[in-house]
Amino acid sequence: MGSTSEAAAVDKRVDFANYFCTYGFLYHQKEMLCDRVRMDAYFNAVFQNKHHFVDKTVLDVGAGSGILAIWSAQAGAKKVYAVEATKMAEHARQLVEANNLHNVVEVIEGSVEDVDLPEKVDVIISEWMGYFLLRESMFDSVICARDRWLKPNGVMYPSHARMWMAPIRSGLVDQQMKDYEESVDDWDCFINETKCYYGVDMSVLTKPYTEEQRKYYLETSIWRNLHPNQIIGTTVVIKEIDCLKATVNDIRTVHASFSSSITAENSRLCGFAGWFDVHFRGSNTNPAQQEIELTTTPSEDYGTHWGQQVFLLHPPPRVQQGDDLIVNFSMCRSKENHRLMEIDLSYEMKQSGKLLPPVKNKIFIE
Ligand code: SAH
Repeated sequence: MGSTSEAAAVDKRVDFANYFCTYGFLYHQKEMLCDRVRMDAYFNAVFQNKHHFVDKTVLDVGAGSGILAIWSAQAGAKKVYAVEATKMAEHARQLVEANNLHNVVEVIEGSVEDVDLPEKVDVIISEWMGYFLLRESMFDSVICARDRWLKPNGVMYPSHARMWMAPIRSGLVDQQMKDYEESVDDWDCFINETKCYYGVDMSVLTKPYTEEQRKYYLETSIWRNLHPNQIIGTTVVIKEIDCLKATVNDIRTVHASFSSSITAENSRLCGFAGWFDVHFRGSNTNPAQQEIELTTTPSEDYGTHWGQQVFLLHPPPRVQQGDDLIVNFSMCRSKENHRLMEIDLSYEMKQSGKLLPPVKNKIFIE
């Protein structure tokens, strides 16, 4: 093995340990299978657009339990290739057989990047979306599959994706600061006691510990299903993806400059929320009969397992209705792990016609 392929093999093993391992558990697949918003959207997309499936060939990228492959077969596909990287493939095979679809659905255990199919397909279906759409970077695998296996007039399920942001208020900003301060206070006690009881002065580690805790409590995004009334300004689309055309380069980074006006009366700008939606529209030449939307927007009744990502601002400035925010957002993949993200988020505020100095934040999606 040459050194480059050795590195790639090590990377693959690390990726399996860090990323794929959780998908090998049924409890994790069940979490997704219990997400009604997600399930209803894919179910309706398939069964209200049977013309895309009847007598067609389908590739399910990252089949997991096999649910999307099974629906594709039930909707009339003549052949479905269900590719799953983890041992979950064995459960998917059991499920396919128990539902009498083994003549149509072929479960293949392996990375979609490595598989060889005997033919090109009419449809690629996949549930590849991570937190704030792009965490996990799984869409790379879908792009690879599309470029290798989708027929020229083939259709992507979903066909489009968008990322959204909005300014929010949230008590989380106080909670995180409190937890951070407590953790730093606790460290000071620990330093005193270690010195006193065990004769070692650990204070040289205070700075790195504080930095580590700062990153954890104050600079890492937080998962939440927000209430819509926590949104305090106009919502903005920061990225649009055409799943038929997007390249890995198009999604490796996200840069957006946008404005948002504060709509709440008198509030604190505690941070920004980020979420996504996807659409099932078919293609220009072969459109959907029923267009379906899957949204993870803040909602009183329809939370999802994706929730929203909350990017907090410390300290949170006061804002008034009519204030204007000018935001610069830049997201790239973490150097250590391409499935995690790093964000530079800076904003300027125009308050009663006066432009306040810019505030910069670094935020990690872990
Ligand atoms: N389609 C299932 C599971 C979605 S979760 C459902 O909708 O319920 C995503 C799945 O894709 C996981 O099971 C994960 O192991 C798999 N996966 C991610 N990247 C993959 C790749 N490159 N090749 C094959 N499977 C992959």
